[in-house]
Amino acid sequence: MSQAFALIDKLAAEADLSRAELRLLLGARDESSADRLFEKARQARHAVYGRDVFIRGLIELTSYCRNDCLYCGIRKSNLKAERYRLTKEQILDCCAQGHELGFRTFVLQGGEDPHFTDDVVADLVSAVKAAHPDCAITLSLGERGRDSYRRWFEAGAERYLLRHETRNEAHYASLHPAAMSLRDRLECLEVLRDVGYQVGCGFMVGSPGQTLDHLVDDLRFVKEFEPHMVGIGPFIPHQDTPFAGEPAGTLELTLFLLGVIRLLLPQVLLPATTALGTISPTGREMGVLAGANVVMPNLSPVAVRKKYLLYDNKICTGDEAAECRFCLQRRIGGIGYDVAVTRGDHAGFSCQQAIASA
Ligand code: SAM
Repeated sequence: MSQAFALIDKLAAEADLSRAELRLLLGARDESSADRLFEKARQARHAVYGRDVFIRGLIELTSYCRNDCLYCGIRKSNLKAERYRLTKEQILDCCAQGHELGFRTFVLQGGEDPHFTDDVVADLVSAVKAAHPDCAITLSLGERGRDSYRRWFEAGAERYLLRHETRNEAHYASLHPAAMSLRDRLECLEVLRDVGYQVGCGFMVGSPGQTLDHLVDDLRFVKEFEPHMVGIGPFIPHQDTPFAGEPAGTLELTLFLLGVIRLLLPQVLLPATTALGTISPTGREMGVLAGANVVMPNLSPVAVRKKYLLYDNKICTGDEAAECRFCLQRRIGGIGYDVAVTRGDHAGFSCQQAIASA
């Protein structure tokens, strides 16, 4: 048996590999080891979640951002980016439409826009929750203080996505302006967990300067932090950023990492991202077959879709919410999986809630 096969079998059996073993596995990967990895990853996800794929309705609240991340199309230095922000009424309309379409989780994402103060977001979360008490609300609004996170949690938000982007300090510094730090990012993740959110971290695959050693750091971090969700997708260049000329991350490596993450954290909620669907027409289906169990169709109004361009050639920017929803249903059904009309909580969630309330 090849070294990669032996490592994959160990990872599947123990849900863990050392730093050195992960490095060996990433370095030795090839087509046949990827097939074995994906098979084991599917077994692990079937054991926890069966063939259900959870859908999240993504609503992109604002393309204004005070940050200047070098990779991102809505960075504040990109003067060509068209800026918009949705009103409360528009957001509630998106949720109402989403609920009709079977969404039971809404992801409210946006740039770090000072318009979305603690009060504005708390009011929005309360309104969405009042209109749809059967739904979960995920926020993805970047770095804030404990008081803001607590306020929004108390208003009804239960999940928060904040990718750590890279666990390596020097690499983090090369992707972000000097005002941002990995330490702040990690501190936010700790606070979010402490407040009570189901927390998601994650990173881009193939971001400029990334090495396999950086990815090993990311995988060890994911294992040790034990988030409820991990969002990974390929880096894709945006023409109006300093990384315009950099190559995109590959489908092959992103899929392999999805498989490894599924085996490191068998219960994790793992999206097959829009970026994966952007670098390959069947990227999201392949992501599900590699171990992912979440997809996030876009519910934002079509009129603003093209303005939330984090990277070039983003898919689904012209489609109505219903088209996206049913397109994904066809794609997921086509590979033998089922779109589930449920909140799609982490498998450990209800048990944690029960313990907390006992
Ligand atoms: N402002 C929030 C935050 O910082 O978490 C949420 C919005 S931010 C644009 C969402 C994610 O988009 C980032 O965490 C980053 O990983 C991803 N992203 C940004 N630019 C990208 C690019 N060029 N290619 C792929 N993903 C990108």
